[in-house]
Formats: sequence, structure tokens, C-alpha cells
Amino acid sequence: MDLNSTPHDEAFRQSVRQWLADNLPKKKLETIEERKEWHRKLFDAGYLGMGWPKEYGGQDARPMEQAIVGAEMARVNAPAAVNGLGIGIVGPTIIHHGTEEQKQRYIRNILMAEEIWCQLYSEPNAGSDLAGLRTRADRVGDEYIVNGQKIWTSGGLHSDWGILLARTDPDAPKHQGISCFLLNMHAPGVEVRPIKQISGSSEFCEVFFTDVHVPAENLIGELHRGWQIAQTTLSYERGGNTLSRVSRQLAQFERLLEVAKTLKRNGRPAIEDPIIRQQLGQMYGEIEVLRYSTLRLLSRLEKGLRPGPEASISKLYYSELDKRLQEMTQTVLGPYGQLTVGLSPDLALDGGEGEGDGGTWSHSFVWSRAGTIYAGSNEIQKNIIGERVLGLPKEVRADRIALKAGAR
Ligand SMILES: Cc1cc2nc3c(=O)[nH]c(=O)nc-3n(C[C@H](O)[C@H](O)[C@H](O)COP(=O)(O)OP(=O)(O)OC[C@H]3O[C@@H](n4cnc5c(N)ncnc54)[C@H](O)[C@@H]3O)c2cc1C
Repeated sequence: MDLNSTPHDEAFRQSVRQWLADNLPKKKLETIEERKEWHRKLFDAGYLGMGWPKEYGGQDARPMEQAIVGAEMARVNAPAAVNGLGIGIVGPTIIHHGTEEQKQRYIRNILMAEEIWCQLYSEPNAGSDLAGLRTRADRVGDEYIVNGQKIWTSGGLHSDWGILLARTDPDAPKHQGISCFLLNMHAPGVEVRPIKQISGSSEFCEVFFTDVHVPAENLIGELHRGWQIAQTTLSYERGGNTLSRVSRQLAQFERLLEVAKTLKRNGRPAIEDPIIRQQLGQMYGEIEVLRYSTLRLLSRLEKGLRPGPEASISKLYYSELDKRLQEMTQTVLGPYGQLTVGLSPDLALDGGEGEGDGGTWSHSFVWSRAGTIYAGSNEIQKNIIGERVLGLPKEVRADRIALKAGAR
């Protein structure tokens, strides 16, 4: 297999690199308006919704071209697009499963960040066991009436719309009675409460629904088929953007390498410490392993195949590696790793990949825990890999074992 870029891809990479050199914001984006402005610049350059059909504002771009843009943005620590969930999850869902009216109504506004989207899936008792969700959508005339609660809604505070999973048939087996809706976050009866996090920011919210009226035309796909729709969108969340994550890790690793050349340990540059050298070498090898496994996923996408359960391997490996990378970074930096303000310029470089108040090594350290939970926790990824990639027997849940034992 030839892992070198084609001349076309290399030329494209250079053009993206040049565009970023000319357009990268000179200061941290503070307000939602500044972030929307940056989002629109990315769209105008053709770097958002790249894989979407041209008729809906996309570029019909190949997965490799999308990955190149993601990688180049990560390389220079460019701010992410503000409508990340709209672009990453909702847009593809509407394109695959929506009606023509829904495509015309929503897609362009997602691309232009005219409407910001969030994902209303998890509930207090339905995270890993998402199919156990209890929020209800009951048909009344030509509307659905939604009641219930969601939690961990990223960006809920700034969102105009949410993609909602709700139970439409309480009597059906739990995976079969769920439907998917587009819900207006400004509708009467929607209450958004921010959750304060360890990092100090409030990227997450709780969302409460009390008799929220959702027009029947906001159903996505077929009634009671929401579970299947959620599966396709989650596999995009798990697999599609791993290459940009590898690039971000490599960029952070290189910055750490630079810092280690000047930061003193026992009176000598940290890079001369044999243990730190070994740790850096090991880490570089691990990041390269992820890069190659991501290229394998990418070649699957290039052939027109969907991410599939193998995306769980990338997600699992990436997030565990990120924790190790951040821990090693803290070990190398020592007390400097905790600085959040007044950093010397060469220590203040890392932006982390989390939204909110990134920009410090310590934020990246705290944020690295999140990667093992979102888009399905790592234990769940291991179950998927075991059952659907390796073909092992299905997991036997501990509570069922306890029940059986009790019955004996
Ligand atoms: C940064 C971040 C952003 C998020 N954004 C969103 C969002 O925008 N919208 C949204 O809907 N949700 C979002 N989530 C929620 C996320 O999807 C859930 O947190 C996740 O699915 C886990 O569910 P839970 O928190 O209820 O944990 P639980 O399901 O209660 O799990 C608790 C622990 O038990 C383990 N566990 C559970 N079941 C099993 C099993 N069968 N086998 C082995 N171990 C098991 C889990 O791995 C975990 O360690 C986000 C989460 C994070 C961290």
C-alpha cells in the first residue's frame, strides 16, 4: 500500500496551508459572534460540509480532502467551526434520512451557522444504554407533544435546534419504539440549564421538555426507526474525524518536544533526561500507530464504505492515547503544566480540542478524560469491538447474572 499523498492531494494540502496562513484569527475567539464569523469564513473557503452534495451547499469532496483540511487546521491549532454538531452529525443525518423539504429548510442554515444545533440523545438513566431513554413524543393531531429530560447536551445554551431521540411507542421492545425529531430549542416548554464543569466552563446543559409542540413534519426518517438513524450518525461521530485528532496530538507532541529542549530538569534541559527521552520516543511511536490505523479507516471511506464498527477501534485507541499523552506532558512540564494564566509564550501553545476555555496544557489534561466517555464510553466500544468486529459472544450483563443466581 502506498502511503504517500498523490500530487493532487499534496497540492490541495499546500493550498489549505496557505489559506490558513492568510486567514487564521490573530487572537482567541471570545464571543459566539466571533466564532460564527470564523465558521462562515471556513464555509466560504469550501472547508465545511465538504463531503456533502453540491446541491446542498457542499463540495462533493473526497474523504481524504476533508481529512487534509482537518489535519491542517489541527496543525496550526485553528479554532473549530462553531456549529460542530450541526456539521458533523445533524447535516449528514438530514442528508441521508430527511425529506427534500427538510434538506431545503435546514442544510444551508447549518452550513452558514445561521442556526446552531445540539444533540439531544443522553438522559440521566440512558447514556450507555441509550435505548432505555424515556423522553416521550406523543402524537396529537398533526403534532407530537414532547415531555422528558436530556442531559450532557453539548452547546445546549447557544443552540437554536436539537436533534432529538424520543420514545414514540412505549409498548414496543425498547430499540423499536424510538423516533428521531428536529426540535426547536426556542419553543415554549424547552428549558435549558447549564452544568458547571471541572474546567470552569459550561459546555454541557440539562434540557427539560414540558408539553413541547413539535410539528409532525419534523420527524426524521420513518416513525419508530430512530434507533437505526442514531446508529449511522454515531458511527460518524466515532470515526470520521480521527485524522484531525492525530494531527492535533502530533502538533502538541512537537510543541512539547520544543519545550523539553529549554525547560530545565536538575539543571539540564529536560530532553537530556534519559527517562523523558524514552517516554517521548514511546509516545511518538504510539501516535504513529494511530495515524496508520486512521489511514486504514480513511481508505475505507475513500472506497465509499461507511465507517462501520471498526470506527470504535479508532475511538478507543485515540482517547486512551490522549490520556497517556496528557499525563506524560504533565510529567515533563512538572509545575509549569498547571499554569493557566501568564504563561511564557512557548508554554502557552496547546489549545486542547475541547470547546470553551482551551488554550492551556492543564485544560487539555482535564479534557482528555472526556474522550473516553463521549460518543459512547470506552467500555461500550470494547463491547462493540468484541461482538461486531471479532464476533465474540454477546456480553452477559452483571445484573442478569445476579437475577439468574437469585432464581436458582
Ligand atoms: C464531552 C462530552 C460531550 C457529550 N455531549 C453529548 C451531547 O451533546 N448530547 C448527548 O446526548 N450526550 C452527550 N454526552 C453524553 C455521553 O454520550 C454519555 O455520557 C455516554 O454515553 C455515557 O453515558 P452515561 O454518562 O450515562 O454513563 P453510564 O452509561 O451511566 O456509564 C457509567 C459507567 O458504566 C460503564 N458501563 C455502562 N454500561 C456498561 C456495559 N454494558 N458494559 C461495561 N461497562 C458499562 C460506562 O462505560 C461508564 O464507565 C457527552 C459526554 C461527554 C463526556
